[in-house]
Amino acid sequence: MIDVFNWQINRKMKYTYESPAPQKQFAAVFDINKCIGCQTCTITCKTSWTTGRGQEYMFWNNVESKPYGGYPLYWDFKLLEKIGGGKWNAGTYEGKTIFEKAAEENKNVEGFLPDLEDWSYPNMGEDEIYGGSVNKGMHINSLPHPIWFYYLPRLCNHCSHPACVANCPRQAVYKRPEDGIVLIDQSRCQGYRQCVAGCPYKKPMFNATTYRSEKCVACYPKVEQGLHTQCMEHCIGKIRMQGWISPPDAPKADNPIDYLVHVKKLALPLYPQFGTQPNIYYIPPIHVPTPYLKQMFGPGVEQAIKVYKEEVHNDPILKGLLVLFGSAPEIMTKFDVKNDVALGYDSKGTLVAQAPITEPNVVRESYDKARDAYRLDTP
Ligand code: SF4
Ligand code: SF4
Ligand code: SF4
Repeated sequence: MIDVFNWQINRKMKYTYESPAPQKQFAAVFDINKCIGCQTCTITCKTSWTTGRGQEYMFWNNVESKPYGGYPLYWDFKLLEKIGGGKWNAGTYEGKTIFEKAAEENKNVEGFLPDLEDWSYPNMGEDEIYGGSVNKGMHINSLPHPIWFYYLPRLCNHCSHPACVANCPRQAVYKRPEDGIVLIDQSRCQGYRQCVAGCPYKKPMFNATTYRSEKCVACYPKVEQGLHTQCMEHCIGKIRMQGWISPPDAPKADNPIDYLVHVKKLALPLYPQFGTQPNIYYIPPIHVPTPYLKQMFGPGVEQAIKVYKEEVHNDPILKGLLVLFGSAPEIMTKFDVKNDVALGYDSKGTLVAQAPITEPNVVRESYDKARDAYRLDTP
């Protein structure tokens, strides 16, 4: 074990080996407030990558309803219990990461292998409300809501300190130096399932037909062409912005991911206390009580919700960037806002998206003089 700096927990931590930063790091931001749980992302990944034998149960992308859902069952609660919850002091994590907890017993990673049964209920808890039920005539007009649930879309986080890499005895799991994407070399894998046990997010999955482990490949053939992955491109709710993240001490204000994560601190990592420095970031749902969100996204939750509630209407740059989510098949590495229009550029500097920040408001009269016709759908 050696010391590496993990900016998400604001301190050094023990990790299995030195993990040099890749030339660039695959990353994405998901605005949970906009997710409608339609599972289009799940199905587009399924039909693209996991239609073969042994892959029937696999959902490399899944969307679970929180607080009750989980695929595999209770993946998060089980691990939180093992590392002892998690203690934060302001922005610094003082509890143990999965690597530090494991080191106490001379292991690489604290983890567990889910049972076969645990993978069998991907929709468990779907749309189940926490805190009561919706009664007839119920009306909620305050934030956070007294009763709530929300959708959490998940895929491999292509972590900066990946537990799957640390735990593989065959060095079959590796992080690509050119883009930080984490892959499993199928010719080296011997099906020991140590990546499955080690990944805190339970994103590698075992194929009993090929006797190999598999995982999200970040749709690398598309990413290599500067295109969004399947699950990002086809997101119906346009909740996803994919791109490249810079180190926190060198953010680029015109990079969409940097702006949301480092500059505005609006998007937060999922369970940063695990210690893998995940690279999928979430804008937390503003209708959910903060204690629940804090255990999931860390201490930055209150600030992120404040920014979302206050600045999203007043800051034209932020408003413009949020409008650009899901607006082009190409990865936008730069953005700008001019004259009430948000502009997105690819890595070559080509304009690939433009969207008005304010949509025109068209009033349709009930009687259309030009056509001498009445419209029945207007007041
Ligand atoms: S989410 Fe899991 S499988 Fe993906 S890189 Fe991180 S540790 Fe590995
Ligand atoms: S990035 Fe590609 S492989 Fe990974 S979950 Fe999304 S669609 Fe599936
Ligand atoms: S496609 Fe988008 S809106 Fe639909 S469930 Fe997936 S992340 Fe949510």
